[in-house]
Amino acid sequence: MTLAGITHLVEHAVLRLVQPVTLWHGGTVQMDSVEFYACGDADAVAGYLNAIAAALSGFTAVSEEDLALEKSILEAENPHGFSTVSGGLLTYRFGTNGLGAGHFGSPTLAGVSRAEAIEWAQRWFTAENAAVTFTGPVPDSLDIRLPQGAAVTRHQPSPVITAPTLVWSQKSGVALSFLVPLRNSTFLGEALRYELLARLRHARGIIYSIVILTTQIDDDCCQLDLILDPVAANTAAALQASVAAVRDVAAEGFTEDAVQAAHRALQALVTWDDNVASDYVIQVAVNGLLGRATPTRQALLDAAASITGPEATATLMTSLESLIVAVDKDIKVRKADVAALDLTLDSYDIWQRHNGTGDLKLQESSEGHRKWRSKTSGAALTLTETHLLKLDSGKTKSIKLADVVLVGDRSCGGISLMDRRGRSTEVHTDDWKDSKKLRRKLLRAFPTGIVREFPEE
Ligand SMILES: [Zn+2]
Repeated sequence: MTLAGITHLVEHAVLRLVQPVTLWHGGTVQMDSVEFYACGDADAVAGYLNAIAAALSGFTAVSEEDLALEKSILEAENPHGFSTVSGGLLTYRFGTNGLGAGHFGSPTLAGVSRAEAIEWAQRWFTAENAAVTFTGPVPDSLDIRLPQGAAVTRHQPSPVITAPTLVWSQKSGVALSFLVPLRNSTFLGEALRYELLARLRHARGIIYSIVILTTQIDDDCCQLDLILDPVAANTAAALQASVAAVRDVAAEGFTEDAVQAAHRALQALVTWDDNVASDYVIQVAVNGLLGRATPTRQALLDAAASITGPEATATLMTSLESLIVAVDKDIKVRKADVAALDLTLDSYDIWQRHNGTGDLKLQESSEGHRKWRSKTSGAALTLTETHLLKLDSGKTKSIKLADVVLVGDRSCGGISLMDRRGRSTEVHTDDWKDSKKLRRKLLRAFPTGIVREFPEE
């Protein structure tokens, strides 16, 4: 967490080191791999890959200036993620470990040092962790040399959400997330898309589209995410209708039309074009490194053709146990409507209701804990050995210090706190009296290893 985004920075810096390149080329960071690719004359492609390997082997040549330029490019690429942490469906399910660490933003990037970037490149970009694939014969001029190192070991931790749950999200709209078997994940996604579009788009006009994301968790299991795009005024309705729809389909079965649409969508997805070909060579490389087989196009088509409506319905029924529904926390949903969803509620708020020790009403002298008062309201903050407490309107909320895994020390004076579930808050120290002392005490309350420089908010 403290180095979130560092792989992306190294990828950018490596591409900078090999410029100028006129060949069609690029690099990309995925959840489980980094890819460098090029397309064209075989010897030119080999020359590009040789240069990438040379840049990685000699990454100590990267300058402070190179990294500063790439940081500002990364800010332009994703301005929100560059300054703010905000989790998504993988973080809700897995916390900040494993795949949950991939998508919560990278305000840590601003403070990543040259030494850290070099150490990262040397640790991960090794011969043991690399694979190369080609759509044609291996070019004679290929001469890739990478340093030796340790092979990757990976461990995907168990989900932190284990019952069907409604999460109040920082993101707009509505999203549904399931754990499904890898085998029919794409089919299930397409069949659900058809059923949800029929009810929410065609019948009611409350969404435009559904984005489907699949993330492989292990050899057999996949997280299937469906992201719906209602406007704010239709978000509560889309929440009700989408949850009702997936439950109705699980109970009554997918319609013939949905099954047919899913079969046809899968056929279209593996239609042989240049993108499918380049995706395929990338998958062969990545799966090879992970010790996984890569199904051929024909195997995918055969597997898809064999999936029946009843099988997809049975899969959905089982998958409902893993349902996470995320909805925009700023949307007003009536209490009765929330209760009717019959989902565990997760406010996804790092500030938890406090009922332990450390009552703020206790006198400073008796507890020995300093109290900071708000400049603008009656709120107060206190820092104990174990908690940061906030008293506001008669209620006490707290953050357990031991649960905090990342502390952002912002250049504007604010402090950002994120816990192991990826929940975060900004403490605007300027809003409190004696702010300098508050800032100093708060930063000292955490191990120095998790305190990182953050950019201005
Ligand atoms: Zn990028």
